[in-house]
Amino acid sequence: MLIFDPFHYSFTPLSLAVLTVGAGMLLLGTAVLLRERLSGIAVRYWLLTVAISIWLLNYSLAYAALRDDLVLQWFRLGSVGVVFIPPGLLALVAYVVQQERETRLYVRAAVALSLLFTAAVFVPGLFLTGLYRYSWGPAARYGWPGMLVIAFLYVVGTLALVLILREYRRSTHPVNRRRLAWVMSAFGIGHLASLDFAVNLGIPLYPVGFAAVAVYMASSFLLMVRDRLVFLTPEVAMKEVLETMQSAAIITDLEGRVRVVNHSAEEMLGLRKADLVGRDLASLAIIPQEVQAAVLAGDRPAPRELVWPDGRGGRTVVSVAASFVTDERSGMPVGVVYVAHNITRRVEAEERLMRFAGELQAANRQLEGLDRMKSDFVSVVSHELRTPITAIKAFVDILRMKPDMPADRKMMMLRTVSEESDRLGRLINDLLDLSRIESGAVAWREETLSTADIIRAAVEGITPLAANKGIEVTTAVADALPGLRGDRDRIVQVMTNLLSNAVKFTPAGGRISVAAHAEPGPPEQVVVAVADTGRGIPPKDLQRIFDKFHRSGDVDSDMIEGIGLGLNISRQIVEHHGGRIWADSAPGQGSTFRFSIPVSAGGTG
Ligand code: ADP
Repeated sequence: MLIFDPFHYSFTPLSLAVLTVGAGMLLLGTAVLLRERLSGIAVRYWLLTVAISIWLLNYSLAYAALRDDLVLQWFRLGSVGVVFIPPGLLALVAYVVQQERETRLYVRAAVALSLLFTAAVFVPGLFLTGLYRYSWGPAARYGWPGMLVIAFLYVVGTLALVLILREYRRSTHPVNRRRLAWVMSAFGIGHLASLDFAVNLGIPLYPVGFAAVAVYMASSFLLMVRDRLVFLTPEVAMKEVLETMQSAAIITDLEGRVRVVNHSAEEMLGLRKADLVGRDLASLAIIPQEVQAAVLAGDRPAPRELVWPDGRGGRTVVSVAASFVTDERSGMPVGVVYVAHNITRRVEAEERLMRFAGELQAANRQLEGLDRMKSDFVSVVSHELRTPITAIKAFVDILRMKPDMPADRKMMMLRTVSEESDRLGRLINDLLDLSRIESGAVAWREETLSTADIIRAAVEGITPLAANKGIEVTTAVADALPGLRGDRDRIVQVMTNLLSNAVKFTPAGGRISVAAHAEPGPPEQVVVAVADTGRGIPPKDLQRIFDKFHRSGDVDSDMIEGIGLGLNISRQIVEHHGGRIWADSAPGQGSTFRFSIPVSAGGTG
């Protein structure tokens, strides 16, 4: 039975000092345990401090007790603490030097021994056989198991020091070495406390062990609190993992208020921790309500692709996974963690790929079109070449076989042969022009030109043809048009094309008018118009007549000469000069073809 009657105690300075250190040790161990949330190292540290505190607190009562039986009673209880110091020390050191696996057997053996010793402590006359009286107070007289415990303490204490020393030698990082040196000196000084047990063997040594323990306490306190328990624990590592990971992590409580964010989250959202923590997740508008709802309902929603503003006017595409945070011990949900992985680069690459695929498809279609055009080209050209050749050959054969044919018929045939040769010549010229322009083989001249001169040259060339057909050609050119820059022959070719088309598609008695005026820019341009009173062009053909071989509607059946290259060549010439060509027309209403050429700087024409 424990006796706490104050009349049986008188506290000496020694008993008070021992009491203070014992109580301080317990408080410190418990504080570390709570502060480090039961981390592995904190639990081991706490167990050791409990063993030391049991020793010191009970011994302090023993020093203060006035009756021998009480003294013995407290020494006995204190001895329980003493026998558990070795396993506690070994477990802590093994954890610090990360050799738990290698030392597991030793720790277990130490625990088993301690249990045996504890049993021995309570066998009367075995562990404690009586008391010594010294000038400063009493000491327990140890029997042989007590001596074994002292040996046990020495052996384990030395083993612990050796383990730390080995780790110190192995370690290369200065910070780590400094830390281990601290641990080593703390344990080394703590080790001195075992000198206290000399008194139990009858050697009169003032029991200063509590002072060594106080030093050990102070140094381990500094190590654990100031150095923040920097030995790798899952808790310390988790924090580093959180801050090092490239994904953004946002942890909210069950009400959806942001509690924890990591560095990547700040980066991705362009917001500081202070702006994020404490805010309602909904007010940030980065996680859809239904995702939050799903998690809170206990689901684990599949990762979602979301677009987050990056706070700098840009966007980040993220893949967000969400799950519950549950309390390890109670298993109750305490919050929700969202982890967002930046996939902007991947999404952009995908978009680029899609665009390329689209462009490739378009290019493919264009190539197919070109391929078709090439086939058309070959068939049109061969047809157009064959027709005049067939006619020429037929007439030449007839002339050869019937030399005495009437002269007028001969003349008619020879005229046809000549016309067909002209047509062949024109066709070949057009084809050559086209291929030269398209292959870039044309040597474009560049000179200052006068619009009026170009129009005059072209109109003069076409007038006999028009007159033949009874078509009147009139010209209205504005005064003092600005000069152009370009290749005179080519621009005359464009004009001639337009004029000869106008003659071709206008019935006898029709009219063709040519006009030119300047249009203010930029760039300032000269616009030339060729209008006729001919058959006109249906709207569906207005654009396409500028394509190669495209001839409008019924011209083929009407046997109007041509293969549909003139306008295409004209467009290429005009565009080469930086201008544009277009047509306005309606069936039966005549047509007006216009082209524009930017004027050259300075000079008039
Ligand atoms: P071609 O005259 O050899 O057929 P073009 O490229 O010069 O080739 O003209 C293409 C088509 O445009 C003509 O076949 C015709 O259908 C139409 N076209 C061109 N000019 C006129 C015009 N002044 N009036 C009506 N149709 C025209």
